[in-house]
Amino acid sequence: MKRSLAILLIIAFITALPSCKEGRAETYSAFVTAMDTRGEIRVYGASHKAAADDCVALMHELDKQLSVTDKEGLVYQLNNSGETKLTATLEELCTAAISISAATNGAFNPFVYPLVRLWGFTTDSPNVPEKDAIEAACATVAGTSLSFEEESVRILGGGAVDFGGIAKGYAADKMEALLKEKGVDAAIISLGGNIKTIGTKPDGSPWTVGINSPKADLALLGVLRVGECAVVTSGSYIRNFTENGKTYHHIIDPSTGCPAETGLVSVTVVADSALVADSLATAFFVLGMEKARPIAEQFGVDTVFVTQDTIYVSGGLKEKFTPDREVEGVYTVVFD
Ligand code: ADP
Ligand code: MG
Repeated sequence: MKRSLAILLIIAFITALPSCKEGRAETYSAFVTAMDTRGEIRVYGASHKAAADDCVALMHELDKQLSVTDKEGLVYQLNNSGETKLTATLEELCTAAISISAATNGAFNPFVYPLVRLWGFTTDSPNVPEKDAIEAACATVAGTSLSFEEESVRILGGGAVDFGGIAKGYAADKMEALLKEKGVDAAIISLGGNIKTIGTKPDGSPWTVGINSPKADLALLGVLRVGECAVVTSGSYIRNFTENGKTYHHIIDPSTGCPAETGLVSVTVVADSALVADSLATAFFVLGMEKARPIAEQFGVDTVFVTQDTIYVSGGLKEKFTPDREVEGVYTVVFD
């Protein structure tokens, strides 16, 4: 009798095991290489595998429409033949990019492509262009606009569109909508410096998002403990080249035609929307901290501005940001 009771107890324990595991639900990660980055979509709950895989397909579809180099894509067509079909994606993105551009006094400029191309940032051999060429490209960028018809969009002024500073954010927002539609209530999307958290982790703990360090000998500046939000970082250390001892990076100030120089090495924006966070991070990098701060306030977003020696953390992140232990002696951390 005793023996069968023991067996029964063991069976009961085994049956109870899955509920013990509920606190740390199984995760599934789908990986995607697109938009010049390697991304990960991690969903909590093995039953959501298909939803994560759908995000991969969505990312490829968006990349195709929005890439400046994919000859079959809509942006390529718009840039090279002056006109293309107006899809819902293109309309949403153009509208959002133009409005962020207006809100940031043109620091974010979706028509920056002639400058990006001139500096060779889309190639394997970037280089410092001639001054005259920079001035000419600047004038083209400033003179470009879009004209919307019912079913098509035209580009005017001889310029070209570049959604490199906003597309990953847009994609992350679209993935969030897709995952929620499929019933996913906990997930984290990571698209090269663009992090979007969805819902709450099954164990109830906050999401932990690391902010990368611009200095190679330090892995992280610190971590943010957050709820559902987007955390996006733009930095001069991410893509750059060195010529005659000077380093040039890929975030261009449309008013000078050159890589922005405002003393910042990285900007992180925390917002509800990844599109807003992505485009503002690029804009704030161009504007510099002083001009960026009032705009951050208008948008109600939080920020982490990083210079060579200081990390400035906005008030809303005071309880959420923990500097890495190694930061001491390398950076001063200032909380607003
Ligand atoms: P990353 O693409 O490295 O995540 P960003 O979001 O800051 O970083 O985007 C940088 C990209 O955005 C550049 O590679 C270029 O395609 C584009 N870009 C550069 N300068 C600007 C600008 N002033 N406004 C809008 N887009 C920009
Ligand atoms: Mg950006």
